[in-house]
Amino acid sequence: MVEEVEFLVVGCGPAGGTAAREAARAGVETVVLDKDSVVGAKRVCAAGLRPGFCETFDVPRSIVHCDTPRLALFDVRFREYEVFFGPGHTTTREELDGTIADLARKDGAHVRTSSLYRSLRRDGKRIIAEYADMQSGERKEIAARHIFLAQGSTAKLEQTEFGYAEWQNGLVTTLQYRVYLERPAAAIAYQTLEMHYFPTQDGRMTVAWMFPKRDHLAIGLGVMGKMPGAMLREELDRFTARVRDRLYPGIAHTIKTEGHLLYGAEPRPAIAADGAMVGGTAAGLVDATNGEGIYEAAMSGRFAAHAVAKRAAADPAAEYQRAVKSRFYRRLRHRAHLMRYLEKRPARYALLFEQLAKAPRFADILQREDHERTMPDRLYLYQQALRFAARANFCS
Ligand SMILES: Cc1cc2nc3c(=O)[nH]c(=O)nc-3n(C[C@H](O)[C@H](O)[C@H](O)COP(=O)(O)OP(=O)(O)OC[C@H]3O[C@@H](n4cnc5c(N)ncnc54)[C@H](O)[C@@H]3O)c2cc1C
Repeated sequence: MVEEVEFLVVGCGPAGGTAAREAARAGVETVVLDKDSVVGAKRVCAAGLRPGFCETFDVPRSIVHCDTPRLALFDVRFREYEVFFGPGHTTTREELDGTIADLARKDGAHVRTSSLYRSLRRDGKRIIAEYADMQSGERKEIAARHIFLAQGSTAKLEQTEFGYAEWQNGLVTTLQYRVYLERPAAAIAYQTLEMHYFPTQDGRMTVAWMFPKRDHLAIGLGVMGKMPGAMLREELDRFTARVRDRLYPGIAHTIKTEGHLLYGAEPRPAIAADGAMVGGTAAGLVDATNGEGIYEAAMSGRFAAHAVAKRAAADPAAEYQRAVKSRFYRRLRHRAHLMRYLEKRPARYALLFEQLAKAPRFADILQREDHERTMPDRLYLYQQALRFAARANFCS
């Protein structure tokens, strides 16, 4: 006898955790499988959250470490441009993912940790997933009417109906230090999300960051494709030294190193088929200009939960795909194109950052989602985009 459930969620990151919580809350019998023994404990992330994230997803504000009204953008010559927004927030993934998983449990979802999903097959209208119970060492199966695949950037979907030939080319290698200081850094560090754009020694553009936390600074970088570990570490050491000189010169500290893959290109073209849905980073829902994807992941989880909870829906997976695409694909594709356009001539970063710093409305509208923009916003954005293109096309 194979165990049966209505909704199976794979992965308990922001996508899977939100899907499980909201589906269970709507009365859908839900099981979540996560390979880790403690949800969120191993996630590598700068964990910057959009303004309003906690309210949007009904997550307690107690997870927020710092409110960050300042965004500091640094161009290839390390010049700083200041933009105010939000404020954004920072947290850690052990707190965010752990909290969402606890809330999902309270709402009735069964979260099974140490459960490594391997594959799925179809049996009539049922989907049967195979997974390894890493505590007992047993291979198990579970049948579901709907499945939500949210395993993040390492999801192995290439041999399935969700395969996307460009996926490998969009993978980003990241390395991050958690810097634990013996006394606080400069006060401004705790009000700022820093994003830096500069070429690595082998000429590739890298995106680097400094995000403040209660007890440490998260300092990291990501490069498109693979880079040998020693070289990546050297790049991060050089970047960290620059941050140290500005924000915590002479302060004793210890460092914890962590690394993971991220995705930074266009979203996956197919994310739904016959009861199966793909969400979060596994679907490529990441902003290529800054690596943000927590909000998109959680929102995709919400869309999946809505689709399965609407029991009268003829094809919940198709409904899910429509909702995610109409909400995110235009913006995320545009961000991927923008990033490739900037990378071609790195002087373009400075032109864009200068324009954002001088025109707060431009920065504000750019950060909003498509559906939040009014017609005057769109016109204004279009004018600013034309202005930027006119300067950027001719810069050297
Ligand atoms: C270094 C770094 C910094 C980042 N900084 C930010 C930031 O500041 N702000 C932001 O918004 N985004 C950031 N991101 C992106 C963000 O981490 C992702 O967008 C987000 O985690 C996506 O959530 P998810 O639920 O789709 O996947 P994940 O968070 O990756 O969660 C996937 C879950 O699936 C589980 N899993 C994986 N494989 C299996 C399997 N086979 N079986 C069972 N379980 C499995 C994992 O254990 C994990 O719990 C960053 C990413 C990186 C790598």
